[in-house]
Amino acid sequence: MSDNDGVGVGINGKDELPPPPKEDIAFHSLPWNLNLPDEHSYMHLTTTPDKGWTLEHYNPTTNDGAITNSLRHYSSTPLPLYPSTTSLNYGTTIWEGLACRRSPTSHKAFVFRPQMNYARFVNGAKAMCLPPPSYELFMRGLQLVLQHNAQLIPPAPEVDPTTGVPQGGAKLYIRPMLLGSGQQLGLHVSPQISLVFFVSPTGSYFQGKAMGGLKLHLERRRSRAARGGTGNVKCCGNYAVAMRPLLDAKENGFHDNLFLELETYHNPPPSSSSSRLHQAILQELSAANIFLVLKTGEIVTPSLRRGTILPGVTRDSVLTLTREFKDELKPIIVESITTAGMGSDNIEITVSERDVCVGDLLNAAEVFITGTAAEIVPVQSVATSETPVEELDGETEESFSVKFPHGESSPGPVTTKLLDMLREVLAETRSSEATKDWLCDVFASPEEFRS
Ligand SMILES: *Cc1c(COP(=O)(O)O)cnc(C)c1O
Repeated sequence: MSDNDGVGVGINGKDELPPPPKEDIAFHSLPWNLNLPDEHSYMHLTTTPDKGWTLEHYNPTTNDGAITNSLRHYSSTPLPLYPSTTSLNYGTTIWEGLACRRSPTSHKAFVFRPQMNYARFVNGAKAMCLPPPSYELFMRGLQLVLQHNAQLIPPAPEVDPTTGVPQGGAKLYIRPMLLGSGQQLGLHVSPQISLVFFVSPTGSYFQGKAMGGLKLHLERRRSRAARGGTGNVKCCGNYAVAMRPLLDAKENGFHDNLFLELETYHNPPPSSSSSRLHQAILQELSAANIFLVLKTGEIVTPSLRRGTILPGVTRDSVLTLTREFKDELKPIIVESITTAGMGSDNIEITVSERDVCVGDLLNAAEVFITGTAAEIVPVQSVATSETPVEELDGETEESFSVKFPHGESSPGPVTTKLLDMLREVLAETRSSEATKDWLCDVFASPEEFRS
């Protein structure tokens, strides 16, 4: 295939529509994985740390540069790899995850809030001593790889005729990566840097399994992220440390781990009367953020202040939607709390980011998690493992178990409403001042796409 097949589209036109989805693919049942690699192309650009990313890679004025010749067939052109490749030895890789969907309203293909992913990518690049690409280069890379693979953007979701709510979470997932691809032995900045964008069409992350809500394991021995570390960066090491705990949790019948600020478990405030574990502060899952709907009417998620939590785009979007559409949500929150038998009539709705502790889980009517891959998924329970664990410093580990009033057989009312709202934004049937820039049209001109 030639490198520029199909890429002329959208460069001049304002209202170009994407080519139709490939016909013989059951997009909605694709697992959360790398799917159909024979069908896609990926982008690969290189530079050196001294040079960084320049107009030679992409010049936004002429709309040209090495980027226009950087697409390769995924299966037949793997990345070159030597034993001493820096990122292999030292983990200097950051990545992003974005979703592209067709709108059932305009039939355009949109990427969701790429500006936020770019900001996070730049932070991660700094943390891993990698030169960050310009905003223009990042956006043009996204746009080209999506235009090239547009036949893999799933069909627009069907809209429920009675509720008007779009159904289904299929998407073309895009993963930008920045990594040290040069060779060396010592712990130095890599002599070569690679910028890669690859894609995979997927269904939903927690397919089927989540119908009854997730069972989360409260992990109180191992940490995903410590203060002063890289928990707030999408770097590959964070997933390496989460892997062993994840497999252990799955072996014990859980779907994922809920991680703690372990220091707050080991060193609780001296004066408090409640248990050590109840005071421990919650972080997030292996790759998703967490929200609680409390019986007080507060919707709460752990604060980013400690620097140990990944600042999720979905997390931010849910916070924005709850603030923006608070009046519409209020009766739903009241319903959630009263049907959970926790009710009081005079509930004031608040949305907050603060330290959330294990004890707060006991006051939750609903709990859900958020992420690009997962969207919004209900949680049915949080518990420590039944299997005996070694004692730490001679102390017996406390156990904990809570099953939420909502989420066991179906998502709670607030979880359902927020997922509906998010999908309505994606389908262009809901918007507000705060959400108006959330959808970027892949087949618009490069200037428009990044504006
Ligand atoms: C990617 C990720 C999330 C979710 O972020 P989104 O931007 O919403 O996809 C949350 N936590 C971790 C650890 C992640 O890696």
